[in-house]
Amino acid sequence: MAVQGIGDILYGYGAGIYLNITNRCPCCCDFCIRHMTDALGGADSLWLKREPTVSEVIEEMKKWDLSGPGELVFCGYGEPLVRLDDVLLLCQWIKTNTGRRTRVNTNGLSDLIHKKETAPMLAGYFDAVSVSLNAPTAQAYNALCHPEFGEASFDAILHFTREVKKVVPDVTMSVVSVISGPEIEACRRIAQDDLGVQFRVR
Ligand code: SF4
Repeated sequence: MAVQGIGDILYGYGAGIYLNITNRCPCCCDFCIRHMTDALGGADSLWLKREPTVSEVIEEMKKWDLSGPGELVFCGYGEPLVRLDDVLLLCQWIKTNTGRRTRVNTNGLSDLIHKKETAPMLAGYFDAVSVSLNAPTAQAYNALCHPEFGEASFDAILHFTREVKKVVPDVTMSVVSVISGPEIEACRRIAQDDLGVQFRVR
């Protein structure tokens, strides 16, 4: 349900409840769902008229039944970790007030966004982190995702994943199914063999 004057902040999708707190993202992926539809799951529109404050997100969460199991997932029409400090405040509220697991679906670029090491900051706040890999080389990543940080992005994603694995129990790297079979296999080796995290094709 859309919040008057803002848009859909929370939306149900499958078994999870998702938080859509920003439309900002340093990438412009060729496959981004934002180019294809305005909404997902139970949302009317995931385009926000403005970013909700932490208090507004909490007020919205209070309207939902969060007593059951399942995840609260930071994933909307933008990169959640653009708002890293706010995300941690929201996780703190979720941990204190609900029994839900917390997950963030991220492009893994928060170190470059914030110009510092960010993975250690997630310790204790997240049960799971899913990092989009989507390409097996820096060149291929650039060509597909067009990150504003250029080819430094790919190594930054691998570094973030390596570091976040040290502090978050459940870490997955994912790829979109639109890339080729050999590229998917190369990504699988990076995730599972090189970084020791789980791998998922979405
Ligand atoms: S990183 Fe995610 S939100 Fe950003 S452009 Fe790519 S698919 Fe879209």
